[in-house]
Amino acid sequence: MFSEKNLIRVREGNKKPVLEEGEYILYWIRANRRLAWNHCLDYSIHLAKKFQKPLVIFESVMMEFEWSSPRLHRFLLEGICDTAADAEKLGFTYWSFVETEEHSLSEVVPTVLKNASAVITDDFPCFFLPEHAETLSEQLSCKLLLIDSNSITALASYEKSFEYARVFRPRLHDRFVESYILRSDPKPKSKGIPSSEHLKKPKYLFSAKKENINKTLSKMRSKFPNVLPVSSKIGGRVEGLKILKNFLKEGLPFYSEERSEPRPPDRMKASALSPYLHFGMISVDEVVTAVLGSDPKIDWSPDRINHSQRGKNEGFFHPNPNINSFLEELLTWRELGYLLFYKSPSFRKDLSILPTWAKQCLQLHRGDERTYLYTKEEFENAKTHDPIWNAAQKELVLTGSMQNYLRMLWGKKVIEWSSSPEEAFRILEDLNHKYAYDGRDPNSYTGILWCFGAFDRPWFPERAVLGNIRYMSSDSTAKKFKLKPYLEYIQGLEGLSEPGFFK
Ligand SMILES: Cc1cc2nc3c(=O)[nH]c(=O)nc-3n(C[C@H](O)[C@H](O)[C@H](O)COP(=O)(O)OP(=O)(O)OC[C@H]3O[C@@H](n4cnc5c(N)ncnc54)[C@H](O)[C@@H]3O)c2cc1C
Repeated sequence: MFSEKNLIRVREGNKKPVLEEGEYILYWIRANRRLAWNHCLDYSIHLAKKFQKPLVIFESVMMEFEWSSPRLHRFLLEGICDTAADAEKLGFTYWSFVETEEHSLSEVVPTVLKNASAVITDDFPCFFLPEHAETLSEQLSCKLLLIDSNSITALASYEKSFEYARVFRPRLHDRFVESYILRSDPKPKSKGIPSSEHLKKPKYLFSAKKENINKTLSKMRSKFPNVLPVSSKIGGRVEGLKILKNFLKEGLPFYSEERSEPRPPDRMKASALSPYLHFGMISVDEVVTAVLGSDPKIDWSPDRINHSQRGKNEGFFHPNPNINSFLEELLTWRELGYLLFYKSPSFRKDLSILPTWAKQCLQLHRGDERTYLYTKEEFENAKTHDPIWNAAQKELVLTGSMQNYLRMLWGKKVIEWSSSPEEAFRILEDLNHKYAYDGRDPNSYTGILWCFGAFDRPWFPERAVLGNIRYMSSDSTAKKFKLKPYLEYIQGLEGLSEPGFFK
């Protein structure tokens, strides 16, 4: 049920009218690939009832987007199958289209758009989606509305983006209770929406059943056809919810102490939810709800918030330190990145947003001799002198993910071992987006830029190449953690990989 207080999440994409002659209200899913817990769907239902029009939910997959691969395509198609099943259960009209060599988006999308009274879509602030929304706003003859269902607080409620978590945190805390109360609908209802039975379905829609995925994939071109799906990584809401359930039991009770330990996946204490959050297959609202309700000793409600901890990274949300620690990542750090992109549509994905001190360090040390210097190809093929770095890179290539602590080390070392900071940024962006399921996200950029000093302070002593930017080393990583099981796990994976990939 859409609340007027959530209108802050609605942004006009153009000044065109809602067309009386249009046949339906169209919700075009471009980022929030789910029906439950979705402010965009909640608002679409509201408009369909208000204008007494049927509601069509449309989801599409483009074939050759930047960094596209069979790995990402399969994950998306698996997600579509779950959304189609949910739509059927809940009684919504859902059309999906997957671009293939046989049928392009331009054969279907214009027809779907032409018959709409108004188009509603996800206001995802990163990758090609903001530019796509701009083009769409011009192409349409009807109203375009963009809805923010990215995070628990409405991004438009902040006056600006923030350079430091400590500055952002109290503002997030101030908004949390009201945002929690105004969460999206866990069970959206189609009752009361005019029937869509008379609508003519466009041609070439995807028949969203798991058994059709392989055939469709075989007709899809991509930028990186060699980046193959990982059999243990299954896309879609069903799998995302399974992972969440498992995390509540096996990971969350140990999260604050053990999340950083690089381990084989069955012993990891982090949630592994980032791909599902990135593709919008699960929502932050529902993860927050599940996590806050997970401690059997505490019957949590917003009056359990400890306001004396406002602005602190411990103790605010819940007395349980594991829950606080997890929400610090999911809310403070994640929303910091989303806000940065949301507030700066012209945000350039390069080093220009770094704080002045970090830019000066990089400039001052630009000419420093690099103890090791690698090409992008050497990095990609895990051919450095450092077995821990190589293992992390192999994990990324072979599993589509990388454990968070090693991801930081991975980024830092690429800076040290590249010919320039700009070259390092390009390598990190490319490898992260090409292989990681959760890549192409605001958090991809904030994570990478953190390695260059963003959101951080100067550290001492000053070192070669990085200057005062925080330094990390494989030696101290090896001392800090018991890495043997992780390294053995990676070795085992390598045995299963395509012969010769890392040779
Ligand atoms: C070089 C580098 C690149 C990164 N690239 C990405 C990326 O492409 N996509 C991505 O989602 N994250 C990225 N991160 C942030 C972080 O590594 C991942 O979000 C996290 O490891 C995902 O694993 P998880 O879901 O098990 O996290 P958990 O520890 O279970 O955390 C839960 C959720 O909180 C959010 N989160 C956790 N840590 C961070 C963080 N440091 N910054 C922002 N949000 C966070 C994520 O949405 C995550 O799924 C990157 C970090 C670095 C240093």
